[in-house]
Amino acid sequence: MSYYNKRNQEPLPQEEVTTWECTKEDCNGWTRKNFASSDTPECPLCGSKMIDGVRTLVNLQNNSQTKTS
Ligand SMILES: [Zn+2]
Repeated sequence: MSYYNKRNQEPLPQEEVTTWECTKEDCNGWTRKNFASSDTPECPLCGSKMIDGVRTLVNLQNNSQTKTS
């Protein structure tokens, strides 16, 4: 029964990125700070103010330095 270990998946690589988050409650607008051109950006969707935030994003690029073999 080798299928037993199928659950033992490697966790997806994740990275924390600093973001700007839209302050409007029903808006999902946000952007990476890396991509923001201003210190006081406006939401690209609704034009509201944006505040500091942090998001944990899955890094789909499998080029981490942990692969040494
Ligand atoms: Zn917005």
